[in-house]
Amino acid sequence: MVYLDNNATTPLDPAVAEKICWFLKEHFGNPSSLYPIGRAVKEIVTEARETVAKALGAHRNEIIFTGSGTEADNFAIRGVVDALPEKNEIITSTIEHLAVLRVANYLEKKGVKVTYVPVDRFGTVDLDFLRDAITPRTALISIMLANNEVGTIQPIETIVEIAKEKGVLVHTDAVQAFGKSDVNVEKLGVDLLSLSAHKIYGPKGVGALYVRRGIDICPFVHGGHQERGMRAGTENTIGIVGFGEAARVLMERGKKDREKIEKLAEALKKGIDEKIPKAKFNGHPENRVKNTLNFSFPGLEAEAVLLALATKSIYVSTGSACSEESEEASHVLLSLGLRPEIARSSIRMSLGRFNTDEDIQLVLRELPEIIVKLRQISAFEPEE
Ligand code: PLP
Repeated sequence: MVYLDNNATTPLDPAVAEKICWFLKEHFGNPSSLYPIGRAVKEIVTEARETVAKALGAHRNEIIFTGSGTEADNFAIRGVVDALPEKNEIITSTIEHLAVLRVANYLEKKGVKVTYVPVDRFGTVDLDFLRDAITPRTALISIMLANNEVGTIQPIETIVEIAKEKGVLVHTDAVQAFGKSDVNVEKLGVDLLSLSAHKIYGPKGVGALYVRRGIDICPFVHGGHQERGMRAGTENTIGIVGFGEAARVLMERGKKDREKIEKLAEALKKGIDEKIPKAKFNGHPENRVKNTLNFSFPGLEAEAVLLALATKSIYVSTGSACSEESEEASHVLLSLGLRPEIARSSIRMSLGRFNTDEDIQLVLRELPEIIVKLRQISAFEPEE
């Protein structure tokens, strides 16, 4: 199998699997219990919180564990809007993940004014538009750090500067950036930041929201005192332990992995550019997480390419996993200015820690043949 869909999810790192198994066998206590078996689990959860915080340059009290990256995004946006009822405007971008866009749509129905900042052809947000969109009633700017479909990295530090001048809070969805680029909350200057464990070789169903100390947001789940009363409910201890271990492994080997992944991705990109006529690369040429390659193959339906590759046990994606069942073209690619039929001809290949040279060689043998065959069937003539 050649797995090139690491932006959808990553395989569990063996060290994470081992740690989770150890925890499952050795511990069952409730971290809220005061006797030793509860205390022991509380300590393990605290250690995981400290590790996730350290990987971000944050303090452990600034990390709230959530049920997913999606929940972290929902929490950040609704938590701020609820805490600032006198300000009922937010700003986001047209290329956010649905975890942000759908919350924005929901809030619009509740009377919140939402401004969607457009992007250029590389997927970078229009900073002048963003600056002009800020009003005294703006509560929050939520702009993702790295895009899941094309990988483009946004100029978050500049966005923070613009926001701070006007006293506006900034949230960034760093789900796809974490582990693939430098994510340090001090350097970025953001107030809130979302993460998800299953994108960094950790388990599914656990995420985290970083909330800078001193920022007042409303609780997301009401109930007990867990997560400092901000997200009540007995903790997903297994997931949290796995998340902590995934963050530890990331700090240990992340830099080396990234160098390897970037080389492999560059070789794959070059090979596709050379071997497939009219393949069009989407995304920023430089400012992007380099594991992500999005190509359009004019004249074809991406799904046909995906399924043909799958028969060779090569797994790629047609866009975000959440829109896989949708017939519609990707909202991200349309925002970059692609025509719908070109957007629908696009596939995303996202590399990860476990990819090898052989994987890339295999894709570069199979993909050009598949494209030629499919183009013959669809009678596509590449224009000169
Ligand atoms: N944000 C981005 C940019 C993503 O790519 C994803 C997942 O694909 C999410 C949020 C949602 O994360 P989760 O799958 O943990 O809900």
